[in-house]
Amino acid sequence: MHSTMPDAPLTIARILRHGATVHAPSTVATWNGKGFDRRSYAEVGERAARLAHALRDRLGVRPGARAESEQGVIGTFMWNNARHLELFLAVPSMGAVLHTLNWRMNADQLAYTIGHAGDEVIVVDASLTELLAPVLARLSGTVRHVVVAGDGGREALSGFTGEVHDYEQLISGCPGDYPWEDRLDERAAATICYTTGTTGKPKGVVYSHRSTYLHCFQVVAPSHYGISPRDTIFSIAPMFHVNGWCIPHAAFFTGAELILPDHFTRAASLARMIEEGRPTFSAAVPTVWSSLLEELDARTYDTGSLRRAFVGGSACPPALMAAYRDRHSIQLLHGWGMTETMGLVTAAVPPRGTGADEEWSYRVSQGRFPPSVEFRLVGQDGAPVPHDGVATGELQLRGPDVTSAYRGVDGVPLERPAENFAADGWLRTGDVGSITGNGFLRLTDRVKDVIKSGGEFISSVQLENTLMEHSAVIDAAVVAVPDDRWGERPLATVSLRHDGTDLAELRDFLAERIDAWMVPERWAVLPTVPKTSVGKYDKRAIRDQYAGGLLP
Ligand code: ADP
Repeated sequence: MHSTMPDAPLTIARILRHGATVHAPSTVATWNGKGFDRRSYAEVGERAARLAHALRDRLGVRPGARAESEQGVIGTFMWNNARHLELFLAVPSMGAVLHTLNWRMNADQLAYTIGHAGDEVIVVDASLTELLAPVLARLSGTVRHVVVAGDGGREALSGFTGEVHDYEQLISGCPGDYPWEDRLDERAAATICYTTGTTGKPKGVVYSHRSTYLHCFQVVAPSHYGISPRDTIFSIAPMFHVNGWCIPHAAFFTGAELILPDHFTRAASLARMIEEGRPTFSAAVPTVWSSLLEELDARTYDTGSLRRAFVGGSACPPALMAAYRDRHSIQLLHGWGMTETMGLVTAAVPPRGTGADEEWSYRVSQGRFPPSVEFRLVGQDGAPVPHDGVATGELQLRGPDVTSAYRGVDGVPLERPAENFAADGWLRTGDVGSITGNGFLRLTDRVKDVIKSGGEFISSVQLENTLMEHSAVIDAAVVAVPDDRWGERPLATVSLRHDGTDLAELRDFLAERIDAWMVPERWAVLPTVPKTSVGKYDKRAIRDQYAGGLLP
């Protein structure tokens, strides 16, 4: 029997049109240091149309329309703000590709990703031009235009040989509507994001319109973020990290309002934005939640609107979740995902009928898989591992929003390194854990971070989580370091709330809670534990510092 349903393309253009019309009065509020600059979704839609005209007619960006065609690529070097949202919606909807540059990468990595993606235009916030200039100096060609958003910052670009434009002048006078939907193929590239390179060279993952649309359905569901038109989302996770965890799209998809912090990312500013913007949902990595907790504990803020927020990007210590629950009545929803999966895959919503005694063990897990993603665990011998909640193996996935390759180089369109893809095409996540019969994932570690001590494995995450239970510990990162006798041993790095805590106390604290042979001999107290460009513990940097003799 033939289905009677048409193949209507699932595109970001549809999401843009929906948000700008059905949810026209919803607003995006960008913090300016004193208050919010608000723009309605109708205005965002109109400005996105102007931008698309300007990119096509004034800068000559090719709006490729079919999958695998030559599409123009626009890079963004920006904070979370309303203009960035316009680019998020306009660029893919006109058929070009959006490349959100992670400006916290180093200049060599950035130049690599710009060359690799083929950016022709880069839109930069005025406050970031000084960071962009040394990157431009390393490029050999493709970038023809730099568009500066906001006041100032032009001097830093004096060495750039292409054209420099002002964002507002560029879009001014262009028509406020655009024929978005006419020519798009849902399989065409929409956005490209690069892995942050904590485990090697950045690798490009290219999302399609279809994968973005399906991912939106997945993340807004009550089993995951649970976002509705009644929500106001405070989007703290940077928009350059995995498409801002799909939150900008989800806002237009549902009509939920958006609060964006621009460059005011310190804990005290975030706390004020919660007080004044009254968000009902937010999302950030554990280290952001832990620094915000310090601020909320130290001063009084009204955080009453925020009862539910998402934490992911690295394992969230249960002690951090408990602190928010007990001291601020905020429930942190834990979830897992990666660049290769467009962000969120699992989310820790306990099953129906869970008793109070079991609830917490579900909440601190990485959570449950959504229907679209197939999952399996594979042992070191390549054999399947049962989903019994006990046996562990490497997590492997496939599905419509799980990448099947990386963008290739030198005329090879796609790359599937054996380290990242199994022989039958499943994505190898590099994460180790168990899965229960009812589909809950519990990760023990990353393959690369597990400490192999005398033939036994120590989970760095277990040590970190236990250390975080101590009231003096703000941050804790544990890495493997070489050891003559055991092969590897753990090195614990911590930052502490008060200097008086001595390490012997922390050692005893661990020894009371975990097996004695796992307790680290090597310790370092640091003012702050090194973090990656997206706020995760930078374990590579810690290992390098140890190898260089900079740590004990
Ligand atoms: P990078 O690999 O460069 O750090 P990603 O953001 O794609 O950039 O990282 C994805 C990885 O982050 C996952 O493979 C996993 O190791 C880790 N991760 C994300 N969320 C969680 C979580 N809730 N618990 C444990 N690890 C997590």
